[in-house]
Amino acid sequence: MTPAAAAPSAIRRVRPPGHEGLADLLIENGRIAALLPAGTAPPELPTLADGEGRLMLLPALVESHIHFDKTLWGAPWRPNSSGPTRNHRIANEQAVLKDFPLSLAERAGPLIEHCVARGSLHFRSHVDVQPAFGIARIEEMLALRQRYAHLVDMQLVAFPQAGLITAPGTADLMEHALALGLEVVGGIDPSGIDHNPVRHLEAVFDLAVRFGRGIDIHLHDGGELGRFEIERIADMTEAHGLAGRVVISHAYALGAFAPAELYPLADRLARAGISIMSCAPSHFMAPPLAMLRSRGVNVCSGSDNVRDTWSPMGNGDMLDRARLIAMRFGWSKDEQLADAFDIVTHGGAKALGLGERYGIAPGCDADLLLLPAESIAHAVVSCPLERTVIRRGRVVARDGVLIADAALA
Ligand SMILES: [Zn+2]
Repeated sequence: MTPAAAAPSAIRRVRPPGHEGLADLLIENGRIAALLPAGTAPPELPTLADGEGRLMLLPALVESHIHFDKTLWGAPWRPNSSGPTRNHRIANEQAVLKDFPLSLAERAGPLIEHCVARGSLHFRSHVDVQPAFGIARIEEMLALRQRYAHLVDMQLVAFPQAGLITAPGTADLMEHALALGLEVVGGIDPSGIDHNPVRHLEAVFDLAVRFGRGIDIHLHDGGELGRFEIERIADMTEAHGLAGRVVISHAYALGAFAPAELYPLADRLARAGISIMSCAPSHFMAPPLAMLRSRGVNVCSGSDNVRDTWSPMGNGDMLDRARLIAMRFGWSKDEQLADAFDIVTHGGAKALGLGERYGIAPGCDADLLLLPAESIAHAVVSCPLERTVIRRGRVVARDGVLIADAALA
């Protein structure tokens, strides 16, 4: 569902990045119709926002990796009770969510609204597909997406959190989830979780080919094992003609080797059209994002776990994520800070296949973020909360707060 088209309007006296001087923006039918010198937009048009020369005009942020179905955001604070290993965390999540007093919509709805108020309008959310949760979790997530379709674009990944091979019944449930409308085939640690890398990857790619879907694989497997799996993912991506439709999330293995050793692998990823998603974790080996980008690999980012049974961290703010990326890698030059911003905007748009309707050029959807900053570098460092968010030509949030009727529309 797309929102009803708003009446033609103008955004006045804003600063688009890379643009000489201030600009006015004309919006028609929910799209950017023209970018004009400031003061030249027809005065009779309603003013959607007036930057008064101090607001930057930016594309909406792209949240490329989040788990809305896991979050406890709408619930009272709950101390983390998980054990130290991934299998502990899977079992802990099953136990906590089994009889949780709030529904998925009551937990995740407020988080979606929070993310929108921070400027994200495009999402890829992984949805657990595991027999312990059954089809109900998938149907609840589809219903939640429908409820917010006027506010956000959201892709859903069928995510076999507990394993695709080792958890009986998961393969059938994955097919069911894809048939119900989840857009992307997920995978997870072909060795670390499923103990059979080739069989796991063949199952993932088989589903993608049969259902005509893209792929997004959680890959925490590290070292030589992780490198082997990344190479097999590249093989299968090329063999099945899936260039541009495969994302490897986390890819810690890429952080384990010296850059010179990784160049051939990075070049392989670039040729295969595989994107790398990294949250730029501080406690794991993060992929060298600058090197990957310099070799032509598309890089995107996400919040991943946001206040859930896995981690209390994560705040759903992708501008803050750009700041964390810069901090993680010691990026301080304006060009580097702009790279961090590019990862949470155009990098995400490319990974999610948003196409030419994403951006701030004429013809793009009017999905925009206005905030006080002198440059993109300044925006990333200062992370102002005074943000105006525009969805298809309508203001849906001001000063970091969702407008009430935007939530209900
Ligand atoms: Zn994840």
